[in-house]
Amino acid sequence: DVRHLSKTYSLGEVEVHALSDVTITISRGSFVAVMGPSGSGKSTFMNIIGCLDRPTSGSYFLDGVSVESMERDELAEIRNRKIGFVFQNFNLLARVTALENAKLPLLYADNVIRDADARAAKALAAVGLEGQLQNMPSQLSGGQQQRVAIARAIVNEPQIILADEPTGALDTKTSREIMTIFRDLNQTRSITVIVVTHSDEVAAYADRIIYFRDGRLVNGEAAVPMPVVLDQAAKR
Ligand code: ATP
Ligand code: MG
Repeated sequence: DVRHLSKTYSLGEVEVHALSDVTITISRGSFVAVMGPSGSGKSTFMNIIGCLDRPTSGSYFLDGVSVESMERDELAEIRNRKIGFVFQNFNLLARVTALENAKLPLLYADNVIRDADARAAKALAAVGLEGQLQNMPSQLSGGQQQRVAIARAIVNEPQIILADEPTGALDTKTSREIMTIFRDLNQTRSITVIVVTHSDEVAAYADRIIYFRDGRLVNGEAAVPMPVVLDQAAKR
C-alpha cells in the first residue's frame, strides 16, 4: 500500500525525480505487470517495494507494516522473509551448482536451516529442474538459468516475487515458459507477482497492468482513470 511516494536522487547540483507522488494498492495474491519507457521509474519503484531502497517521502505499508522509516537491518529481515527477487540477467553465482544457487537465501536466515538442501531441491523441482541440481550455470541454457533464479526466489516461501525484466534476455518461447512458471506460482501458491516488462505479450500474463511515465503512475488510484481496456482485471 503505497501513498504519495517520491524518490529523488541528488547528482551533485542536479536532482532526479525518479518517482513523484505515486499512490497505489496492490492486493495480496495479484499478478501485476509494470510498464513504461526507459527511465520512467519502474526499477526505482520495484527497489522500494522490495525493501532494497527507501523513498525520499511518502509511505509504504507492506502487510500493514510501515516500511519507509525502518532501519537497514529491519528492511533486510523483511526482504529475506517475505520477498523473492528475479532479475534480467539471472544474477547466479557462476562457480557454484544450481542447488547451491537455489540455497543461497537460506544461508542468510537467522536460524540454521537443517533441511536447506532438500528445500532447494524442492524449489528446483517446482521449476522443472529436478535433473539439473548439480549443473553449473554455464552448463544451463538462459531459460534454465532463469529457472534457477526463480527457484532461489521461492526457496524462502516468500509472499511476493519481484521480477525486473525477467524475460529481457530470453527468446519468445523461453519467455512464455518463464511467464507460465510465474503464473503457476501466482495461482497455485497465491504468491503476489510483480513483473517489470517492456513486452505487451509478457504483460498479458498479469491480471493488472500499471504504467509509469516520468516517475508518475499513469493509471494509479490517485491519477486520472485510464480506459478500462488497459486494466485486465476489470475485464474478468
Ligand atoms: P529502464 O526501463 O531503462 O530499466 P526504469 O523505468 O527502470 O528504466 P529507473 O531505473 O527507475 O527507470 O530510473 C528512473 C530515473 O531515476 C532515471 O532518470 C534514472 O536515471 C534515475 N536513477 C535511477 N537510479 C539512480 C541512482 N542510483 N542515482 C541517480 N539516478 C538514478
Ligand atoms: Mg529498470
